[in-house]
Amino acid sequence: MPLQLLLFIDERSSSQEHIQRIKSYLKALKDDYPFELQMINVGEQPHLAEHFRLVATPALVKITPLPRQTIAGTNLVAQLEQSWPHWVESAQQESLEEETDSSSANNESVTYSTELIRLSDEIFHLKQENQELNEQIRFKDQVLAMLAHDLRNPLTAASIALETLELTDQNPDPQRVEKIKKQIFKQAQTQFRIMNRMITDILQTARGKNAELQIHPQKLNLQTLGDEILEQFEETFARKSLCVKKDLPQDVPDAHADQELIRQVWVNLLDNAVKYTPDEGTIKVSILHRTSQKIQVTVCDDGPGIPPEQREQIFEGHVRLKRDEAKEGYGLGLSLCRQVVRAHYGQIWVDSDANRGSCFHFTLPVY
Ligand code: ADP
Repeated sequence: MPLQLLLFIDERSSSQEHIQRIKSYLKALKDDYPFELQMINVGEQPHLAEHFRLVATPALVKITPLPRQTIAGTNLVAQLEQSWPHWVESAQQESLEEETDSSSANNESVTYSTELIRLSDEIFHLKQENQELNEQIRFKDQVLAMLAHDLRNPLTAASIALETLELTDQNPDPQRVEKIKKQIFKQAQTQFRIMNRMITDILQTARGKNAELQIHPQKLNLQTLGDEILEQFEETFARKSLCVKKDLPQDVPDAHADQELIRQVWVNLLDNAVKYTPDEGTIKVSILHRTSQKIQVTVCDDGPGIPPEQREQIFEGHVRLKRDEAKEGYGLGLSLCRQVVRAHYGQIWVDSDANRGSCFHFTLPVY
C-alpha cells in the first residue's frame, strides 16, 4: 500500500525555495517507500485548506494510512524526516493486514480520496452558489414586496384625484372648476410618473444587477429638461419650504442621451436631495459645459452629506446609510443612476463636506 500525501503550497515568492526543498526531499524518499503525492495550491482551493484545518503553508498531509497527520511550517523537512519512518511502518503494517484480508482496499482508497477532494470542491462551489442565489431571491422578494406596497400610495392619490374631478362638474363656478381641474391633472400626472418610476425600478431589479441597460440616445436639450423637471417638483419643494437655485444656461450644448432615462436620473437625485434635506434647506441645480465633449449636471443640497468612506458604496445598490434606515427607500436609486450614466459612457459621483450637504454630479456626452 503506497502512502498518500497531499502537499499544500502557495504562490508567495518567499515560499518557493522552501517548497522546492520539500519536493526534492520527497523525490529522494520515493526509493525508500512508494507514495502518491498530490499538490494543492491553497489560493485556488482555499476550502481544502479549511477542510484539513491548515493554518500555515507549505503543509504536508498524510491521508492514508489512517490516522491522518499534518505537518506544517518552516521546518517541514525536519519534521518529515522524523515522521517518515512511522508513516512507512504503519503503511507496511496496513499492507500486511490487507494481504491477509486479500481485499482491494488500496485501490479503493486511492479512488476514494481523489473522489473526496473532487466532491468537497464541488460542494464548496455549490454552497457558495446557493448562498448567492438565496441572497438574490431574498433581496428581490423584499424589494418587490416593498414596491408593490408603495405603489398603492400614488395609485390611491391618483384615483382620489379622478373622483374629485368627477365631483367638480357639479360646481357652479366655471373659473374655480377650471383651476381645480388643472391642479388635479397635475396631481394625477405626478402620481402616474411616480408609479412609472417604481415600475422601472421593479423591472430593473427583476433583471438583476448585472443586466445591460438598453439606451436610445438622441439630441437632448438639458436646459429644457431641467426646467421641466424643476416645474414638476415645485409642489414638493414648497411642501418642505426649500429654497431652489437653478443655473441652467442657454449656451450649454445639447447632450447625446436618452431623455427618459436621464430624466429618471435627475429626478432620483432631486428626490434624494428633497428627502435628505431638512425643511427650509437649499437645493441647487446646475448644468455646465465642462469640456468640449462633456456636459456636467449637478444637484447640490445642504443636508447631512455623505461620509467619505461611503461615497463609492452608495452607488453600489442595496446600500443605505445606517443613519437613514428610518427614511423610506430601497437603496436602489443611485445604483440605477450609475447604470444609466455608465450606459452613456458618463460618470457619476458625489462631493460632500461632513454635515455640509452633498453635491451629486453626472456627465453626459455632447451631441
Ligand atoms: P434610497 O434613498 O432609496 O435609500 P439611494 O440609492 O437613492 O437609495 O441612496 C442610497 C443612500 O445614500 C441613501 O439611503 C442615503 O443614505 C444616501 N444618500 C443618497 N442621497 C443623499 C443625499 N442627497 N444626502 C444624504 N444622503 C444621501
